[in-house]
Amino acid sequence: MSSEQTLQSLTHATEETEFFTPTPSGYKPGQTKYVVVFGTVMSGLGKGIFSSSLAKIMQDKGLTVAPIKLEGYLNRDSGTLNPYRHGEVFVLDDGMECDMDLGTYERMLNQDLGRLNFTTSGQIFSSVLDKERAGRYLGRDVQMIPHVTGEVKLRLRELAVATEADVVFVEIGGTVGDVENAYFIEAVREMAFEEGPANFCFVALTYIVEPQILGEQKSKPAQLNLKLLNAAGIHPNIIACRASSPVTRKVREKIALFANVPMERVFSMHDSDSVYVIPEMLRGAGIDATVVELLGLAGRINPDTEESARKTWADYITHFRSAEHPVTIGIIGKYTSVRDSYASIIQSLEHAGAYWGAKVRLEWIDSSDLTEANVAERLKDIHGVIVPGGFGFRGVDGKIECIRYVREHGIPYLGLCYGMQIAVIEFARNVCGLADASSTEIEPDCPTPVIDLLPEQKKIEGLGGNMRLGGFDVALNPDSEIASLCDGSDHLRMRFRHRYEVNPHYIEEIEQNGLVFSGRSPNHPIMQVLELPKSSHPFFMATQAHPELTGRPLRPQPMFVGFVQAALRQSGISDDALEPWVIENNHSRQVPGETATNAQ
Ligand code: GLN
Repeated sequence: MSSEQTLQSLTHATEETEFFTPTPSGYKPGQTKYVVVFGTVMSGLGKGIFSSSLAKIMQDKGLTVAPIKLEGYLNRDSGTLNPYRHGEVFVLDDGMECDMDLGTYERMLNQDLGRLNFTTSGQIFSSVLDKERAGRYLGRDVQMIPHVTGEVKLRLRELAVATEADVVFVEIGGTVGDVENAYFIEAVREMAFEEGPANFCFVALTYIVEPQILGEQKSKPAQLNLKLLNAAGIHPNIIACRASSPVTRKVREKIALFANVPMERVFSMHDSDSVYVIPEMLRGAGIDATVVELLGLAGRINPDTEESARKTWADYITHFRSAEHPVTIGIIGKYTSVRDSYASIIQSLEHAGAYWGAKVRLEWIDSSDLTEANVAERLKDIHGVIVPGGFGFRGVDGKIECIRYVREHGIPYLGLCYGMQIAVIEFARNVCGLADASSTEIEPDCPTPVIDLLPEQKKIEGLGGNMRLGGFDVALNPDSEIASLCDGSDHLRMRFRHRYEVNPHYIEEIEQNGLVFSGRSPNHPIMQVLELPKSSHPFFMATQAHPELTGRPLRPQPMFVGFVQAALRQSGISDDALEPWVIENNHSRQVPGETATNAQ
């Protein structure tokens, strides 16, 4: 039976058959190939970085790639997760709140993703339960196998149809052996059987320990954990070994022997100074050629595309590595102990740093420790300050003090979302003389609510998935600093995740006192970018958006570009000493307003 016939015979659940593989219309078996990446031994190995690097080197060959992350938790999205435990919540253009790995995919692939690229157990189970209520299972008892696994397979094939991808990259969250992801593993096992071996490639990421006391690499935990994958019915085609230093031949031989995988398909993936180095590391090891061979993709690739993509990427690495102007950026926050909660900010600073040749050093400052008495001392060696997004009232006073200080002393400032709201509060209090100014998020009964709930938010109950979310266009004032950073464009698309806004009632008063709202929603009085004119401050800019979410190595986000340049000036570097990177494919700046998927 051809794989097409097999698939057709499996698409209906009836009383007579155990098979159940709902398939979206237009699905053509064999058109899309699948690479599935599993993590073994432990989490935190950089599975997302690995999968996205692998997807990138395939994309470089001219192939269309579509990643999907399968998360085991029951939350329907990542919006209600604490960034302190799980890392930042990444928001996609269509408003999906997802895992930070999706940010890695977008940056590596320079591609906007959407809700089809992210699935949780919460989503899978709710759609199975909805279908059961709708009578869609034809009298059957609804089971983990085949119905829940069928739903997973459906999601993967829907992504294939929607993107017409040559290769779908499936990243299974968690580690092999977890209860939560066991049914995802079962689903891909079934699906590999249905699609046929030429269409599926299994990659296991494993970890080679190097205990200090022994001083050598040991492969036993990896061997034992790879056995778990075999027990689940999956024999990996490729094994990538994470380790702090390059994995020795002896260790790779052991892995090959115990896991039944040819030696030339066991690769080392050791630590590096930037995640963007990983694609070339994988290519150097030959993983791309192995995947092309296993999936029979040779006829679809284009060597010319690959050469130019490689060159542009190598240029990025060269600029990142040769950056020589040291500059120190202070990040004032609450989750300062977990860098994953600020992953995209760190990345966006790296991109803008590579663009200007700046070696960006980060200083983490807990706002709860900042007071009027110590702020000057704390900020004395800092060339620019970021107040990032946040919720609640903890540490607000310290942030206000900090913003007052940088505003009064001409230190470059970039406020992101909450960092814009707090800048407005500080300005209202200390410049407009509105001593009681605050946000109703911080002080619900505050007499001067310069920041207040968005009108549509006043009707909402519950906390999941109902903020103002996703990509929106921002209309820019023609003569503003932000417009000039966007090469004179009149609009910029950014991603949002907020409930509160600048209270329209106070806009005029604030502007009369010298703060300029230079970016607004085109159709609503929602203030989206603010700045102080160049004549009164070298760089003071904030936005209601999260510009860090749309920064890419090959397209540094304009606000970060302007901010890092201002910080370089603050550190004493003159503009003449700077040579910005002219990126050959002309995407050096964010192209404003690419796709409008969200209604204004
Ligand atoms: N807490 C603020 C709001 O909901 C800011 C949110 C954020 O920084 N993402 O509007």
